[in-house]
Amino acid sequence: MADVFTPAKRSAVMAGIRSRNNRSTELALMWAMRAAGVRGWRRHVAIRLLQPAQYRDGPRRPRTVRPDFVFRESRVVVFVDGCFWHGCPKHCTKPATNAAWWREKLHANAERDRETTRLLTRAGWRVLRLWEHALSANAKACAGRIARLLSATAGSSAGVASAESRRRKRRDSST
Ligand SMILES: [Zn+2]
Repeated sequence: MADVFTPAKRSAVMAGIRSRNNRSTELALMWAMRAAGVRGWRRHVAIRLLQPAQYRDGPRRPRTVRPDFVFRESRVVVFVDGCFWHGCPKHCTKPATNAAWWREKLHANAERDRETTRLLTRAGWRVLRLWEHALSANAKACAGRIARLLSATAGSSAGVASAESRRRKRRDSST
């Protein structure tokens, strides 16, 4: 059976699904982070990066990325990657219709993700990518990974320090 949508229309439909899914998984992560005492993130902040020049001695191309969560002070960014769009090895089933178009599209997405991670890392950011399925399965564990990453990063006072000090206070008052 032929796809009822043109590739462009299909893409728009899927983009709608993507943003809805992303919103709910991002919300789940926000709740879990709050519960874990993680603080200091901003959402979808633009980070400008310079890509390598396409040609020798050519200009470096600017690229703006908007990670889902940015911990500026700790220089940590977190992406929530949707299983379909980012090609999760467990859940990304490539549509049978327009197979070649989809293969190319999803491959390009994965390439772009790798490039984004590379550029951010080179610019001194620590990058954590969380799969949508990991978040739906255990948002608490994901928040725990973020908390550990923040506490492992120098200058993470805005991150988990508040939770730490709260715990310490509780401990002190109970003795
Ligand atoms: Zn998945």
